[in-house]
Amino acid sequence: MQFSLISDTFEKMEATTKRLELTQHLVDLFKVTPRESISKIVYLIQGKLRPDFEGVELGVAEKLAIRAIAKSSGSSVRKIQDLFFEDGDLGHAASKALEQKTQTTFLMQQITAERVYDTLFKIAKLEGARSQDMKMKYISSLLNDATPQEAKFILKIAMGTLRLGIADNTVMDALAIAYTGSRANREKLEAAYNVSSDLGRVAEIVAEKNLDGLDEFHVSLFSPIRPMLAERVKSAAEASEKLGKEFAAEYKLDGERVQIHLGEDRVILFSRRLENITSHYPDIVENIPKALKTQEIILEAEAVAINENTGEFLPFQELMHRRRKYNIDRIVSQYPITVNLFDIMYLNGKDLLNSTYVERRKKLEDITTENEFVKLVPKIIVRSENEVEDFLENGINAGCEGLMLKVLDAPYRAGARGSNWLKLKREYRNELGDSLDLVVIGAFFGKGRRTGKYGTLLLATYNQENDAFESICKVGTGFTDENLDQLYQILSNKVTLKKNPRIESGMEPDVWFEPELVIEIVASEITLSPVHTCAKDIVRKGSGLALRFPKFTGKIRDEKAPEDASTDQEVVTLYRNQKKVTQNVSEV
Ligand code: AMP
Repeated sequence: MQFSLISDTFEKMEATTKRLELTQHLVDLFKVTPRESISKIVYLIQGKLRPDFEGVELGVAEKLAIRAIAKSSGSSVRKIQDLFFEDGDLGHAASKALEQKTQTTFLMQQITAERVYDTLFKIAKLEGARSQDMKMKYISSLLNDATPQEAKFILKIAMGTLRLGIADNTVMDALAIAYTGSRANREKLEAAYNVSSDLGRVAEIVAEKNLDGLDEFHVSLFSPIRPMLAERVKSAAEASEKLGKEFAAEYKLDGERVQIHLGEDRVILFSRRLENITSHYPDIVENIPKALKTQEIILEAEAVAINENTGEFLPFQELMHRRRKYNIDRIVSQYPITVNLFDIMYLNGKDLLNSTYVERRKKLEDITTENEFVKLVPKIIVRSENEVEDFLENGINAGCEGLMLKVLDAPYRAGARGSNWLKLKREYRNELGDSLDLVVIGAFFGKGRRTGKYGTLLLATYNQENDAFESICKVGTGFTDENLDQLYQILSNKVTLKKNPRIESGMEPDVWFEPELVIEIVASEITLSPVHTCAKDIVRKGSGLALRFPKFTGKIRDEKAPEDASTDQEVVTLYRNQKKVTQNVSEV
């Protein structure tokens, strides 16, 4: 397949922000994609080479790419650096450099998509002393045969800066339309994606066998399952209203969610975002098999940092130390953890997703022998609001964030947020202290002490229906100097020239970011806003919702994907509940 078909599609996609048009461009592309190449094309669209859990990282350094562009275009390194500094995008620099190339090579071959993919794959696998030179040669060999437009997208993919403004849902819509004739079949594709976390494979099977092929997808060891998510509630009363007379309450621990796969004498750990994080927790790998009476299993647990002397839970931030490549053994003893099991999805060849919560919990208890390191998350069955309140109080005293409340006869709904699991956090009980997880979409430069950093951040909620990020507030308080440095470091890698099409904002910050980073915010109140776009027109025509006196809590929630951020609907609920409370107060 000619790579130009892909670069033409990407060019058109960059020019629009409309979801329907973006989907149609993908449908057109899929219709001309040979079956044997569809998985590669889907990964490239996702800006990857393989699903996240395989950990295949492109790893091309800027310097190296600049040298490759210089070599292929016959320009100096200096010239390419200048082009790069013009707009900060190496893709543009490459296409401009090739446009200005004076000598043409007559041997130029048309580049195929398969060649681009395979070359990038080889680059990702290169290691060792001579790998830098080899990487440069590989990129340069592609650029020698590329048109300026192709060069632009090859570089964007290689550098991880391809931003098409689409989420996995849009790719699934397009696959459903292209291969099954109807967008309505998206759900079936999604079900396959939920248990495999591999969109390339889903595309391959649906392209080959249409819907029939999707039966092949089952839970399997060492393929992560997309996690089940919870809705929030504000009070025990609201939970009872939603869950009925009897439900389970578990401590909600403030750590890192870990999906544990054990079998064939191996343990593999996946994060909530389905990355392989086995190397962060050698202590889990060592200790988990000792606590389980089983051969093959997929479990979910919360890894929580603890105070070694008192055994008390410590906040989530302590786990940040684990995210490093070197000296992990020292870190393991310096920052000890416990592993707290709360679900089981697979046991000795049997998929348990359709078993009820009660059945799964029972299995989990049957196979676990608790010890110092491996525990079961504390759980009770509750039948009244008072029991919820008491258990919440106990949980908070034990250092938890709140409770998870779970429907007793509900299955494990992979990849879904629904009311079978509810989260009741401590903060939600206090009208003025609601915490929200918001996506950083832009920033304004700081002044004074904050010169050269981002002084104020522009934040957004997630709108599931439109797959969009809608602005809700600017935040400039709650940051320590250390926070500001850390955020600058993280965010300066996410700067984009143009606003990402998934962002809806009435405000123009000094810089836009890829909507990727989630941070936690508290605020005093939610108000109507003429500027912000969160829940626009829902509460009142022409108005959105905004946070009043927002403040950063110090928590960077980098275990969360932007689609896991608080939603516009949650904010509408908070707004309406807050109105009820104020009305009640003024009536008194
Ligand atoms: P939130 O991050 O606020 O959306 O809450 C969901 C997260 O709570 C999950 O992703 C888990 O990491 C964490 N969690 C802590 N305790 C539990 C529990 N008992 N059951 C399910 N999730 C839990």
